[in-house]
Amino acid sequence: MITFEDVVEFHGHACPGLALGYRVSVFAVKELGEKASDEELVAIVENNSCAVDAVQVVTGCTFGKGNLIFKDYGKQVYTFIKRPSGDGIRISIDWESPEETDEEKRMWDRYIKGDRSEEVLHTVHARKAKRIRTILTAEDDELLKVIKGRMTLPEEAKIYLSLRCALCDEKVMEPRVRVKDGKIVCIPCFERNYEKR
Ligand SMILES: [Zn+2]
Ligand SMILES: [Zn+2]
Repeated sequence: MITFEDVVEFHGHACPGLALGYRVSVFAVKELGEKASDEELVAIVENNSCAVDAVQVVTGCTFGKGNLIFKDYGKQVYTFIKRPSGDGIRISIDWESPEETDEEKRMWDRYIKGDRSEEVLHTVHARKAKRIRTILTAEDDELLKVIKGRMTLPEEAKIYLSLRCALCDEKVMEPRVRVKDGKIVCIPCFERNYEKR
Protein backbone atom coordinates (compact mmCIF):
# COMPACT_ATOMS: atom_id res chain seq x y z
CA MET A 1 0.00 0.00 0.00
CA ILE A 2 1.17 3.49 -0.83
CA THR A 3 1.89 5.49 2.31
CA PHE A 4 1.21 9.15 3.06
CA GLU A 5 5.01 9.68 2.91
CA ASP A 6 5.02 8.40 -0.70
CA VAL A 7 2.35 10.92 -1.58
CA VAL A 8 4.24 13.75 0.16
CA GLU A 9 7.33 12.87 -1.82
CA PHE A 10 5.43 13.27 -5.10
CA HIS A 11 3.60 16.43 -4.03
CA GLY A 12 6.59 18.19 -2.47
CA HIS A 13 5.12 19.06 0.92
CA ALA A 14 2.73 17.73 3.54
CA CYS A 15 -0.52 19.69 3.81
CA PRO A 16 -4.11 19.11 4.97
CA GLY A 17 -5.44 19.03 1.40
CA LEU A 18 -3.03 16.26 0.46
CA ALA A 19 -4.01 14.33 3.58
CA LEU A 20 -7.69 14.59 2.61
CA GLY A 21 -6.91 13.39 -0.92
CA TYR A 22 -4.95 10.51 0.55
CA ARG A 23 -7.86 9.40 2.75
CA VAL A 24 -10.29 9.62 -0.19
CA SER A 25 -8.02 7.60 -2.48
CA VAL A 26 -7.16 4.90 0.03
CA PHE A 27 -10.85 4.49 0.77
CA ALA A 28 -11.73 4.30 -2.94
CA VAL A 29 -9.04 1.71 -3.68
CA LYS A 30 -10.16 -0.36 -0.68
CA GLU A 31 -13.78 -0.26 -1.85
CA LEU A 32 -13.17 -0.82 -5.56
CA GLY A 33 -10.05 -2.97 -5.40
CA GLU A 34 -6.84 -2.84 -7.43
CA LYS A 35 -4.90 0.25 -8.40
CA ALA A 36 -5.50 1.27 -12.03
CA SER A 37 -2.60 0.04 -14.15
CA ASP A 38 -4.17 1.15 -17.39
CA GLU A 39 -7.67 2.48 -17.77
CA GLU A 40 -9.79 0.16 -15.68
CA LEU A 41 -10.37 2.90 -13.12
CA VAL A 42 -11.42 6.45 -13.93
CA ALA A 43 -11.34 9.30 -11.43
CA ILE A 44 -13.43 12.42 -11.77
CA VAL A 45 -12.22 15.22 -9.50
CA GLU A 46 -14.27 18.37 -8.91
CA ASN A 47 -11.39 20.64 -7.88
CA ASN A 48 -7.70 21.02 -8.69
CA SER A 49 -6.34 21.29 -5.16
CA CYS A 50 -3.39 19.53 -3.50
CA ALA A 51 -5.71 16.55 -2.88
CA VAL A 52 -5.63 15.59 -6.55
CA ASP A 53 -1.93 14.74 -6.35
CA ALA A 54 -2.77 12.09 -3.76
CA VAL A 55 -5.48 10.73 -6.06
CA GLN A 56 -2.94 10.34 -8.86
CA VAL A 57 -0.32 8.56 -6.75
CA VAL A 58 -2.66 6.26 -4.83
CA THR A 59 -5.17 5.30 -7.53
CA GLY A 60 -2.95 5.46 -10.62
CA CYS A 61 -5.53 7.67 -12.33
CA THR A 62 -3.43 10.37 -13.93
CA PHE A 63 -3.99 13.39 -16.10
CA GLY A 64 -1.63 12.09 -18.79
CA LYS A 65 -3.35 8.71 -19.10
CA GLY A 66 -6.69 10.40 -19.54
CA ASN A 67 -8.31 8.51 -16.67
CA LEU A 68 -8.24 11.56 -14.40
CA ILE A 69 -10.97 13.97 -15.36
CA PHE A 70 -11.07 17.46 -13.92
CA LYS A 71 -14.41 19.22 -13.55
CA ASP A 72 -13.97 22.78 -12.34
CA TYR A 73 -16.83 22.80 -9.82
CA GLY A 74 -14.85 23.90 -6.76
CA LYS A 75 -16.18 20.96 -4.73
CA GLN A 76 -14.38 18.42 -2.57
CA VAL A 77 -16.01 15.58 -4.48
CA TYR A 78 -14.24 12.60 -6.04
CA THR A 79 -15.90 9.93 -8.15
CA PHE A 80 -14.17 6.70 -9.11
CA ILE A 81 -15.67 4.44 -11.76
CA LYS A 82 -14.49 1.05 -12.95
CA ARG A 83 -14.40 0.32 -16.64
CA PRO A 84 -16.19 -1.41 -18.26
CA SER A 85 -18.67 -2.37 -15.50
CA GLY A 86 -19.54 1.18 -14.43
CA ASP A 87 -19.41 0.22 -10.75
CA GLY A 88 -18.43 3.32 -8.92
CA ILE A 89 -18.14 5.31 -5.79
CA ARG A 90 -18.77 9.02 -5.21
CA ILE A 91 -16.95 10.45 -2.23
CA SER A 92 -17.68 13.87 -0.84
CA ILE A 93 -15.39 15.23 1.86
CA ASP A 94 -17.29 16.58 4.83
CA TRP A 95 -14.71 17.47 7.41
CA GLU A 96 -14.74 20.00 10.20
CA SER A 97 -11.26 21.18 11.07
CA PRO A 98 -10.41 21.02 14.77
CA GLU A 99 -11.37 23.93 17.01
CA GLU A 100 -8.65 26.57 17.12
CA THR A 101 -7.25 28.21 20.21
CA ASP A 102 -7.31 32.01 20.48
CA GLU A 103 -3.55 31.92 20.17
CA GLU A 104 -3.76 29.97 16.89
CA LYS A 105 -6.39 32.34 15.53
CA ARG A 106 -4.26 35.37 16.39
CA MET A 107 -1.13 33.86 14.82
CA TRP A 108 -3.01 32.77 11.71
CA ASP A 109 -4.36 36.28 11.32
CA ARG A 110 -0.83 37.68 11.48
CA TYR A 111 0.36 35.01 9.00
CA ILE A 112 -2.21 35.90 6.34
CA LYS A 113 -1.25 39.55 6.76
CA GLY A 114 2.30 38.57 5.79
CA ASP A 115 3.95 38.22 9.20
CA ARG A 116 6.71 35.57 8.89
CA SER A 117 8.28 35.99 12.33
CA GLU A 118 9.50 32.90 14.13
CA GLU A 119 6.67 32.80 16.68
CA VAL A 120 4.07 33.09 13.91
CA LEU A 121 5.68 30.40 11.74
CA HIS A 122 6.05 28.07 14.70
CA THR A 123 2.35 28.26 15.57
CA VAL A 124 1.24 28.06 11.94
CA HIS A 125 3.34 24.95 11.30
CA ALA A 126 2.09 23.30 14.47
CA ARG A 127 -1.51 24.13 13.46
CA LYS A 128 -0.96 22.57 10.05
CA ALA A 129 0.65 19.45 11.54
CA LYS A 130 -2.31 19.09 13.91
CA ARG A 131 -4.78 19.31 11.03
CA ILE A 132 -2.86 16.70 9.01
CA ARG A 133 -2.69 14.38 12.02
CA THR A 134 -6.41 14.76 12.66
CA ILE A 135 -7.23 13.92 9.04
CA LEU A 136 -4.94 10.89 8.92
CA THR A 137 -6.34 9.40 12.13
CA ALA A 138 -10.06 10.19 11.69
CA GLU A 139 -12.61 7.44 11.10
CA ASP A 140 -13.82 7.17 7.48
CA ASP A 141 -17.31 8.36 8.42
CA GLU A 142 -15.93 11.45 10.15
CA LEU A 143 -14.42 12.57 6.83
CA LEU A 144 -16.29 11.06 3.93
CA LYS A 145 -19.83 10.89 2.61
CA VAL A 146 -20.08 7.96 0.27
CA ILE A 147 -22.49 6.83 -2.42
CA LYS A 148 -21.88 3.54 -4.19
CA GLY A 149 -23.55 2.24 -7.30
CA ARG A 150 -23.66 2.07 -11.08
CA MET A 151 -22.34 5.27 -12.67
CA THR A 152 -22.13 6.65 -16.18
CA LEU A 153 -18.71 6.25 -17.71
CA PRO A 154 -17.02 9.09 -19.52
CA GLU A 155 -15.84 8.35 -23.05
CA GLU A 156 -12.47 6.67 -23.50
CA ALA A 157 -9.47 8.78 -24.41
CA LYS A 158 -9.31 9.05 -28.19
CA ILE A 159 -6.36 9.46 -30.47
CA TYR A 160 -6.77 12.42 -32.79
CA LEU A 161 -5.17 13.54 -35.98
CA SER A 162 -2.79 16.45 -35.57
CA LEU A 163 -2.85 19.40 -37.89
CA ARG A 164 -0.37 22.23 -38.28
CA CYS A 165 -1.36 25.75 -37.25
CA ALA A 166 -1.03 28.14 -40.18
CA LEU A 167 0.27 30.91 -37.95
CA CYS A 168 2.69 29.44 -35.40
CA ASP A 169 3.46 26.25 -37.37
CA GLU A 170 3.01 24.12 -34.25
CA LYS A 171 0.98 20.92 -34.26
CA VAL A 172 -2.46 20.88 -32.69
CA MET A 173 -4.97 18.07 -32.28
CA GLU A 174 -7.84 18.19 -34.70
CA PRO A 175 -10.78 18.80 -32.31
CA ARG A 176 -9.00 21.91 -30.97
CA VAL A 177 -8.37 23.74 -34.22
CA ARG A 178 -10.07 27.02 -35.14
CA VAL A 179 -10.46 28.69 -38.48
CA LYS A 180 -9.19 32.26 -38.86
CA ASP A 181 -9.35 34.06 -42.21
CA GLY A 182 -9.90 30.68 -43.85
CA LYS A 183 -6.78 29.16 -42.29
CA ILE A 184 -6.51 26.39 -39.73
CA VAL A 185 -5.03 27.79 -36.53
CA CYS A 186 -4.50 26.75 -32.91
CA ILE A 187 -6.52 28.31 -30.07
CA PRO A 188 -3.74 30.63 -28.79
CA CYS A 189 -3.24 31.99 -32.30
CA PHE A 190 -7.00 32.29 -32.78
CA GLU A 191 -7.46 34.23 -29.55
CA ARG A 192 -4.66 36.75 -29.89
CA ASN A 193 -2.99 38.50 -32.74
CA TYR A 194 0.08 36.35 -32.85
CA GLU A 195 3.09 37.92 -34.49
CA LYS A 196 5.42 35.33 -35.93
CA ARG A 197 9.03 36.21 -35.15
ZN1 LIG B 1 -0.23 20.90 -0.81
ZN1 LIG C 1 -0.76 28.60 -33.63
